[in-house]
This record gives sequence, structure tokens and C-alpha cells, in this order.
Amino acid sequence: MDRKKSPAAKAITPTDSAEKINLKGLWIEDFEKLLGDLGEKRYKARQLASWIYAKGVTDFAQMTELSKDLRKKLSQIAFIDSIRLVKRQVSQKDISEKFLFQLSDGEKIETVLMWEGKRVTICLSTQVGCPLGCTFCATGEMGFKRNLTAGEIIDQMIALGDRHITHVVLMGMGEPLLNYDHTIKAVRIINNEMGLSIAGKRITLSTAGIPPMIEKLAEEKLKVRLAISLNAPTDNIRSELMPINKKYPLKVLLDAVKHFIKETRRGVTFEYVVIKDVNDSEKDALELSKLIRGVRCKINLIPYNPVPDLPYRKPSEEEILAFRDCLYPRCPAVTLRRSKGEDIFAACGQLRTLS
Ligand code: SAH
Ligand code: SF4
Repeated sequence: MDRKKSPAAKAITPTDSAEKINLKGLWIEDFEKLLGDLGEKRYKARQLASWIYAKGVTDFAQMTELSKDLRKKLSQIAFIDSIRLVKRQVSQKDISEKFLFQLSDGEKIETVLMWEGKRVTICLSTQVGCPLGCTFCATGEMGFKRNLTAGEIIDQMIALGDRHITHVVLMGMGEPLLNYDHTIKAVRIINNEMGLSIAGKRITLSTAGIPPMIEKLAEEKLKVRLAISLNAPTDNIRSELMPINKKYPLKVLLDAVKHFIKETRRGVTFEYVVIKDVNDSEKDALELSKLIRGVRCKINLIPYNPVPDLPYRKPSEEEILAFRDCLYPRCPAVTLRRSKGEDIFAACGQLRTLS
């Protein structure tokens, strides 16, 4: 935690509302500092966290566990911001919902909720747009506006009310490892019992592959799962699809991934978007199985979801199954993701907001 940058680390003096501190996105250490500055006991930080995150309260008056005096002091210097739901779309084909949220500066982001039996997964955005510009991705195409704050990341969950969410994937708009501090802080809040209480093994962070940040993530005491969007078996194909590969070619990326596996003793998932005539040949499958030989991993094949104005196509069902069969038995752990919410443009890589 970088205390210097934290809004709570500023000298706290009751002033006009324009100077009030937004508490959404702050965490225990920030609350302790804030309460200390107010002359209050630091243990109350946990109660405050629990009211804001676990209970989703935005009005200090409702925080009945806290003394009236403290509630008054808090309302003079702070507020609890929320993102605003502006549109909700329900998919007809399967069970998924897409939400459009407006942030306090007017920017918009999308969040997706998916059901599979008892599993309820929320797909969170970490940036407005994305700076990496992968050529097949709708978010990449819209360009980059700004990073989300930890509060805006977490609020995508809180704003939906009690939806019995069991799993969290950081796979919405943006590249989480390029918004490292806010993403990690949000993950800590999601993971903690005073926050959203989702176990680390049920939180997956998906990255296009930023090796120094993957190494940093390996050092965090977080049990989150890591997914890497591999999407190609060779540097040639990958650089074509994902420009970041020119900076960090496959060898560098895989070294970081191996380091992560060694440090955390956890396997990873390689995601592979199967695109017709681009990365779906038998040769590609053989090269892919060679590339990841000896790496403790699972491969998740994602049939390409078409994006208007982009030149890529989805292979047929038979072509996808043939590709999967070519990987077997060299890569035994291969799953095929059935995309949800294609009709409402909520499927992988289809998120884009127009402003
Ligand atoms: N930036 C991160 C997380 C968001 S993208 C990353 O790239 O991993 C989430 C996933 O959607 C990635 O695996 C990406 O490869 C995939 N994706 C992007 N566009 C897609 C599309 N049009 N069809 C299917 N999957 C897509
Ligand atoms: Fe960004 Fe991921 Fe889309 Fe690439 S695939 S442009 S990294 S959101």
C-alpha cells in the first residue's frame, strides 16, 4: 500500500463538501489512519470497512454500531461514493446479464453477471477501455480512457445488491496488471471477510501478459488464480493479434509464468481465443502443445466472439472440436468455454462503451 498516495493520508480537517474524502476504495490501514487523525480508536476501522463493503451502506446514519459523535465527524469530512447503474440487459439465449455503469466523471464501464447452476460469476472491469489494443478485441478497439479506482472496481459488485455471487473474474474491460495497485487493493477487499468474502481460489485475474507484474503478483499473499491470454502458439501470430507481444515475447512471458507457478505452487490457465484461419490449424495446435510442455496449466479454449467492424471470424463447431482434439493427449487439461451473452454483446471481448 502506498500510504503517501492514499487520500486518507492527507491531513484531515473538516472543510467544505468539495474537499470531502471518498471512503469507497479505502481499506483497513487507510481507515485506521483516518480514525487516528480524528482521535478515535483504530479498531473501529474494521467496523467501518464492514459497513461500507460487507453491508454496502452509503449513509453514515445507518452505521449504528458507531457512536453518534463519530458518525457526525465522519459525515463532516467524508462521503461514500457509488457508481450509477444506467442500463441493464438480460440475454435471451442463456442466463447472463450485462450492466452499464456511469462513473462520477461521466465515463462508462460494463460488468457482466453469469449463472451456471449454483455458480454465479461476476466479470469486473479494471479500466475504462484498454491501452493494449489487441486487434480482435472490442475493448482494445475503443482505446484507453483511464484506470478505475479500487472503489470503482469493487463497486461493480456492491451496486448490484445481494446477488449471491460465488466467483469473480477480472476479465471485463481493461488490463488489470496495468492498473496494479488499485486492482490488488480491490482484490483484497473482495477476498476479505470484512469485504465481500470471496475465497482467493474463486477469484481469477486474467492478463494479456505483463511479465514484471506477473512476478510482482507472485509475491503478494493472495491466493488468486492467474489466467494468461495466450491466444497464439508463435511470436509471429501473437504479435499480430496482441501488440504487447512485441515488447514481451513468448519466452519472456512464459519465464514469468513459470516463476509464478514456482513461487505460488499454483497452476495457471492459458486462455486461447480460437479465431478462424488465424490460430486454429492443426499445426497451430501442435505448436501450442509444444510451447507449454512441462508447464503446470490448463488450457481454456474460447471460440471467437465476432465484433462488428473487426475482420475476424469464429470457426465452426467442428473446427473448434478438431483443434481441441489435436491438443489431446499432449495437453490433457483442455476446456472449451461456451460463451454467454453473445446476443447482448456481453461475451468475452465484446465489451465496449460508446460515449
Ligand atoms: N485484458 C485482460 C482481461 C480482459 S480480456 C486479458 O486480455 O486477459 C478477457 C478475455 O477475453 C481475454 O482472454 C481475451 O483474449 C478474450 N477476448 C477478447 N476479445 C475476444 C473476442 N472477440 N472473442 C472471444 N474472446 C475474446
Ligand atoms: Fe485489452 Fe485484454 Fe482486450 Fe487485449 S484482450 S485489448 S488486453 S481487454
